[in-house]
Amino acid sequence: MTRFEQLKQREENLLCRTYGRYPVSVARAKGCKLWDIDGKEYLDLLAGIAVTSLGHCNDEISAVIAEQAQKLVHVSNLFYQEEQLELAEKLLETCHMDKVFFCNSGAEANEAAIKIARRYQQRVKNREAFEIITLDHAFHGRTLATLAATGQEKYLDGFAPKTEGFVQVAWNDIEALEKAINPKTAAIHLEIIQGEGGINCLSAEYLEKVQELCHKHEILFMVDEVQAGLCRTGKWWAFQHFNIKPDVITNAKALANGLPLGCMLTTNEVSQAFVPGSHATTFGGGALVTKVGAKVLEIMKRDNLCEQATQRGNYLEDKVMGLKSPWVKEVRGLGLMRGIQLTCTPESAKAIWDSLIEKGIIVNLTQGTVLRLIPALTVTEKELDYFIDTLAELLQKVEK
Ligand SMILES: *Cc1c(COP(=O)(O)O)cnc(C)c1O
Repeated sequence: MTRFEQLKQREENLLCRTYGRYPVSVARAKGCKLWDIDGKEYLDLLAGIAVTSLGHCNDEISAVIAEQAQKLVHVSNLFYQEEQLELAEKLLETCHMDKVFFCNSGAEANEAAIKIARRYQQRVKNREAFEIITLDHAFHGRTLATLAATGQEKYLDGFAPKTEGFVQVAWNDIEALEKAINPKTAAIHLEIIQGEGGINCLSAEYLEKVQELCHKHEILFMVDEVQAGLCRTGKWWAFQHFNIKPDVITNAKALANGLPLGCMLTTNEVSQAFVPGSHATTFGGGALVTKVGAKVLEIMKRDNLCEQATQRGNYLEDKVMGLKSPWVKEVRGLGLMRGIQLTCTPESAKAIWDSLIEKGIIVNLTQGTVLRLIPALTVTEKELDYFIDTLAELLQKVEK
């Protein structure tokens, strides 16, 4: 047995089998590079699922972690902590929001959004509204409520009954949404660009109409930017590509470059719904993670990573489309949140993905035939070229 096979066997005996793992065991990482337990090098264009946006083991981030770890790590939310305020100020500078709630993950950020929407309707507006409308192919997390918000059968399998109060409507279809709105509707929650769903971008027309409907029916407009937020799409927030102002934003993945931290941002109006005791978390927004988060935002701003994501993303799109391969239908997405839609069979797409890993390139394959790239925002053109050249070779080998 190789070392890798031994490790795999050990895991099978020890961990719940919740993950379909890639055939790689990562020992260390730096920037956009990973090394496995045998020292093989990989180019990582997945960045821990859009998490390590500043690259793995970023020197400045490592220094902040080390420094803060000696000063204050956790004391609970029974106490005031200046680190939270430092990050909140930086987050609120990026958009029109007024207030922040910190938590530990994307699912928790969405739980906070769902709870504030219900409580806002029920305690501030005195309406008996609780229903949250979400879209087909959405992904909002794996807790029982966010799973119901996600609404996809494959994730719900075996977990009945589905938590009450969530309805899904057809994606990018304004009539379907309008039909679903009723006196019990509290909010609409959607991803501007669906990540797990295969990099699907809602249209400007749709998003503006969603906002109109929300205003007309006095329901909240909430956007799940757990994946798309923080420069990923070329702006601080994906919704800022459009002429809309949501009432609630959720975020997590890139916020602390790999440490668990999530947040929910909202307006003064909506934030009235939460009073002391309404919602809480033991770990949420601890001093260590928020200190790191503040550094992440400082670096993103200082190094113009929004502009860089736009430039590198356009570079990738132009070069991949420039291959003029019959096996590439389109490159979807914005900035460095990209999906390459292949036209081959899922079997051929899987073979391409396998070969990429073999050649030391990590990307994600979703929805059968979409190669998803969500690399660090610091990825270089040279690194992207290596992927594009390798992809070109592999596409040429696909059978007609
Ligand atoms: C990853 C993701 C989540 C869930 O985040 P977790 O940290 O895994 O709970 C929710 N929404 C979107 C859009 C995501 O991409």
